Amino acid sequence: MAEYLQHEHDVLVIGAGGAGLRAAVEASAAGARVALISKSLLGKAHTVMAEGGIAAALADVDDRDNWRVHFSDTMRGGQYLNSWRMAELHAREAPARVRELEAWGALFDRTADGRILQRNFGGHRYPRLAHVGDRTGLEMIRTLQDHGIHLGLDVFMEHTIVVLLKDGERVIGAFGYDRERGRFHVFRAGAVVLATGGIGRAFKITSNSWEYTGDGHSLAYHAGAALMDMEFVQFHPTGMIWPPSVRGILVTEGVRGEGGVLRNNQGRRFMFDDIPPLYVNQTANSEEEGWRYTQGDKNARRPPELLTRDHVARCIRREVREGRGSPHGGVFLDIAWIKERIPNSAEYIKKKLPSMYHQFKQLADIDITQVPMEVGPTTHYVMGGVRVDPDSQMSDVPGLFAAGECGAGLHGANRLGGNSLSDLLVFGQRAGEYAANFAKQHPAGQVNPEALASAERRALKPFDQENSEGPYAIQHALQDLMQDLVGIVRVEAEMLQALERIRELKARADRAGVQGNREYNTGWHTALDLTSLLTVSEIITRAALDRKESRGAHFRDDFPDKDAAYGKFNIVARKGPDGEVQLIHEPLPPMPPEFQQIIEEMK
Ligand SMILES: Cc1cc2nc3c(=O)[nH]c(=O)nc-3n(C[C@H](O)[C@H](O)[C@H](O)COP(=O)(O)OP(=O)(O)OC[C@H]3O[C@@H](n4cnc5c(N)ncnc54)[C@H](O)[C@@H]3O)c2cc1C
Repeated sequence: MAEYLQHEHDVLVIGAGGAGLRAAVEASAAGARVALISKSLLGKAHTVMAEGGIAAALADVDDRDNWRVHFSDTMRGGQYLNSWRMAELHAREAPARVRELEAWGALFDRTADGRILQRNFGGHRYPRLAHVGDRTGLEMIRTLQDHGIHLGLDVFMEHTIVVLLKDGERVIGAFGYDRERGRFHVFRAGAVVLATGGIGRAFKITSNSWEYTGDGHSLAYHAGAALMDMEFVQFHPTGMIWPPSVRGILVTEGVRGEGGVLRNNQGRRFMFDDIPPLYVNQTANSEEEGWRYTQGDKNARRPPELLTRDHVARCIRREVREGRGSPHGGVFLDIAWIKERIPNSAEYIKKKLPSMYHQFKQLADIDITQVPMEVGPTTHYVMGGVRVDPDSQMSDVPGLFAAGECGAGLHGANRLGGNSLSDLLVFGQRAGEYAANFAKQHPAGQVNPEALASAERRALKPFDQENSEGPYAIQHALQDLMQDLVGIVRVEAEMLQALERIRELKARADRAGVQGNREYNTGWHTALDLTSLLTVSEIITRAALDRKESRGAHFRDDFPDKDAAYGKFNIVARKGPDGEVQLIHEPLPPMPPEFQQIIEEMK
């Protein structure tokens, strides 16, 4: 093993976004020696892009809020496929995690009397998102990073893990390379936490950063862990659509939370036309009531623009398909209209939504304080991920933990906005604590030299291919097919076609070649990412074919209704003994009566 750079720690955290940093902080505070690995530079993980805020029932703005309401909102949003235990832990613990972040230096926006300001967001009954303008993720990363560095984490920036190492059943480390020099590294550890984020780069139109190639999902799957709920990919209703170079970039739900409305090309607020039965009692029945809600009137109900993301995205799609869309194939999102209600509205918008103002001004030459934006759905988040124990976050592979977007369970069929940042804090903390405990009881295991040699051979294969195809064409073909055939509306025939094409792309990826050397070779990095992208794309497609109903983010044109029978299980994917994807219908754990009662009370 002499040719590899070697590192040994108690806990290895793969991913330096909110979940990874929070896990690393906790493990380190528990006395573990922690390594933190990131594909990008520290501070640049995808979490930095988060805009709208962190959902937590602090009740700083509306004293009717509490963990029970948050629990019930999260379950309703997830169409009751969520792990009720994770939803409970999340709702109970999020307020403490936010206050802790504040104590560590996060400067949240304040109410007039100095409490943490909370904003409205889709699917949340009360204003619940603690935020810092529309740059909340930046503040979160900055705070956790500062805190973590002082605890003495060993940080490995611009390193990519390509395989997890096992000793028997247990995960004992990981093998990867540094992106700058292309040298191979072996990380040995008592426990490994995956916090690698999502899969958005499997689709053509996405709000996600380049890091989102599904690596953690794929690493876990190939190491024998189960993935759950992979059919549920969230298409955020409002991404930029024009000019083409910026298509997919997120337009935060905060715009609608601050009073922004959606209109079609006839100027109609089409969201009033279709309100799902689960939400009728909580939705405003006039524009006037909706406006009052956004301005903090406790007697008003939320406007239909703040219904869950899956529903809003499908309504937008309907308007476009039926010829009522905007010139570039979306609809209009209008915050400028509030000038009819608020003096100095331009200053107000710039203060509340500074990033959105600059984003549109600089990228599209549009002043959102004066004219509406054009928006359309964009691939945003994956509810599916590594199946974990709700309390400890350990997967069913001993020693392997997962937290954040690469984990599954909290969000069920659809995530509510703001519930990801709180997920990162709550379950990142838990993953760090339990991983440190596990590592105390399990010293680093024995690395199999043959496993390392094989990982190295596979990683270097793209340099040895003759007359080969480059990886980018394969990546783009995959993104096109996932967008077209497994996107926001799905049908069986198209998904079967997608599976066939993924099979062909796997064969092409196996022959993909790159030129040059190993030093910062982005072609090589892309060639290695293809394994993850193809693995998660196949699993998403198979799970989506298997769920013959429409629920949450998963919409089947051939099965447009919800089917109660499908509300009783999660779809779990594993790698079978033949190397193929196996799907299992795993019954939902029974919910204790007191939690059922909470849900009934909040209806
Ligand atoms: C534009 C935008 C705005 C959003 N706004 C909000 C919001 O306001 N509120 C909210 O709750 N949610 C929001 N979300 C969602 C939320 O930001 C993400 O779900 C969340 O940040 C994911 O955090 P994470 O810690 O799981 O992963 P990330 O922050 O993505 O971190 C993943 C880390 O893993 C590393 N990594 C990945 N693969 C490897 C590998 N193979 N080897 C080594 N390292 C690897 C990456 O380099 C990175 O460091 C938003 C998302 C987007 C795109």
